[in-house]
Amino acid sequence: MLIVMAAAQIQRNVERFVIDIRRQIHQDPELSFQEFRTAEKIETELNKLGISSKRVAETGVVADIGGKSDGLTVALRADIDALPLTELNKHSFSSNNEGVMHACGHDAHTAMLLGVAKHISETGSDFPGRIRLIFQPGEESPPGGAPRLIEAGVLKGVDYIVGQHVWTEYPTGTVGIYHDTMMSGGYWFEIHINGKGGHGSRPDETIDPIVTAAQFVSAAQTIVSRKIDPAKTAVLSFGSIRSGDAPNVIPETAVMLGTVRAFEQETIDQIGKEIENILKGVCYSSGATYKFDYNIGYPILRNNAEVAKVVEKVAINLLGQENVLYPPPRMSGEDFCMYLEKVPGAFYYLGVGNEQEGIISPQHSPTHDVDEKALVKGVAVLYESALHLLRNGTE
Ligand code: MN
Repeated sequence: MLIVMAAAQIQRNVERFVIDIRRQIHQDPELSFQEFRTAEKIETELNKLGISSKRVAETGVVADIGGKSDGLTVALRADIDALPLTELNKHSFSSNNEGVMHACGHDAHTAMLLGVAKHISETGSDFPGRIRLIFQPGEESPPGGAPRLIEAGVLKGVDYIVGQHVWTEYPTGTVGIYHDTMMSGGYWFEIHINGKGGHGSRPDETIDPIVTAAQFVSAAQTIVSRKIDPAKTAVLSFGSIRSGDAPNVIPETAVMLGTVRAFEQETIDQIGKEIENILKGVCYSSGATYKFDYNIGYPILRNNAEVAKVVEKVAINLLGQENVLYPPPRMSGEDFCMYLEKVPGAFYYLGVGNEQEGIISPQHSPTHDVDEKALVKGVAVLYESALHLLRNGTE
């Protein structure tokens, strides 16, 4: 009952504030590590609330609240960057910056974390210990902003960390909880096939990198279907093939980009070896040479079960058990995983989909949107999770 009353208070105090801030940030999106205006906006809003903050790693902002009495430190994190995409939504607050868009909801994450600050500034910070707000740049560009902020010391003294991600696949009023693996993370690869260019009329005098690349792409489709244990899950996708400029010129090189996803590191490693085996084979038969780079994007995101249970308990109290979902892990990545490698914590999805209102476009699409009615719920789950951890730890 108490927690429901707290939720009603959060609703009154912060709903308008969070929606306004989200729209202001949405209108002025900035790409990874260029979030200078966004960082300034965050500092200005914190300052208005009487909360002092510190700039870290150029465009990151960190603020501690509380600390009146001894206790634990709980960090709450929001990412703040946008994507290179042209927005197709026709809102009054749609992106003003051609070719840049908040298409992953990081505008909402930032606004909700400021909403936590707003709520605390109005209700007081008489909790034991302190809450650390981390506004993180560069989530969309691996290796990401998280390692830079960790390097800058944002986890110093932190006992637990909690973060959230909006997700349109789940309806407003729900959250998605994971007690262990939540995201696969993934590797990115870049392959150069080097042949020998020449005239399109004399292919016999060339080593054609386009035909070699085409053979490789087809053969690589057998890796997941023929080489990986069927009980395991894996993805190998090509995102780019570039070669040549003219219809009658056989080019020198072909360049391919792609990604590999799986839930175990050994599967990711095995796929890397299989890619190289096939590359070696097709290049041997055509006479081409190759260069193969296989780099980690983000590691696997694994929650701490005890912290996840605290978020789950809070969400059940606030939203009802019927609105707490337990979705299967996803083949996506998030640099929040790097905080989780250092301190116990949990990441969860906040449902922001609304079919009746047509808010269904997936993340990273030019019509992505969030149901703003969900934002106040995100503030409540974040804030109450932090309070619970400060008062009771993971009990
Ligand atoms: Mn995201």
